[in-house]
Amino acid sequence: MTRDDLKALVRSIPDFPQPGILFRDVTTLIGDGPGFAAAVAMLSEKALAAEADVIAGIEARGFIFGAAVAARTGLGFVPVRKPGKLPVPALAIDYALEYGTDTLEIDPGAIGEGSRVVLIDDLIATGGTALAATELIRRAGGLVERALFVIDLPDLGGAGRLREAGVTVDWLID
Ligand code: 5GP
Repeated sequence: MTRDDLKALVRSIPDFPQPGILFRDVTTLIGDGPGFAAAVAMLSEKALAAEADVIAGIEARGFIFGAAVAARTGLGFVPVRKPGKLPVPALAIDYALEYGTDTLEIDPGAIGEGSRVVLIDDLIATGGTALAATELIRRAGGLVERALFVIDLPDLGGAGRLREAGVTVDWLID
């Protein structure tokens, strides 16, 4: 399975979630057994090369890939959650969207001080979500030196923004 094979498994949906947006849908990639296994294997290799202590995934599609990578590599998994889901007092960060703001939360005790966290999500566009998650994990005491994505949308510049924050960014397809 090559990166081009993976790319062919991603479905593009015009005008979702809003008119004018071309949504890259990874549910077709996840739904393909060999494709999902290959994507998880490639991400796992990169996570191991980064000498990660723990994997963090961003809700919700980052949980699918991140948890699979954690299980394959034998590392623990920390969920970066949408607001109001954690059963303990959470560390929270608000971040700007094109219209309005959103919030991410983490269990402040989930990450050991100084542990190397590899951040995983399905896709990076503007980088706002991954930057917020990086900041949150750093406040919780983790070191975020690497972030992995299945898809990068290079025209939106997110990888560059994350790099400016000191994170090495890698992805499988663009
Ligand atoms: P960003 O914050 O980088 O602009 O957007 C990335 C976040 O929005 C990720 O959590 C990602 O799951 C979601 N996202 C934005 N656009 C798309 C898309 O076209 N396809 C998918 N699968 N997720 C997207």
